[in-house]
Amino acid sequence: MCYQESKNRKINFFLALLICIVTTPLIGYFIISSFGLRNPKGCNWCGNTKNEAVFCGICGKNDEGLSREIENKS
Ligand SMILES: [Zn+2]
Repeated sequence: MCYQESKNRKINFFLALLICIVTTPLIGYFIISSFGLRNPKGCNWCGNTKNEAVFCGICGKNDEGLSREIENKS
């Protein structure tokens, strides 16, 4: 688990392993999960490459170009 997660996330494998040993694997998993993904999907609309959320943090659009407000109304 530590190895897999450390490959996918911005965390060193040994740091991930240490967290899992010092805490428990379950708690360690939550801590490691809080680190960002190495390959965030980014935003197609404003070029924000660090976006990991469904809605972009900068322009507020999702993959289809709809903002949160528009999505909620429809
Ligand atoms: Zn954006």
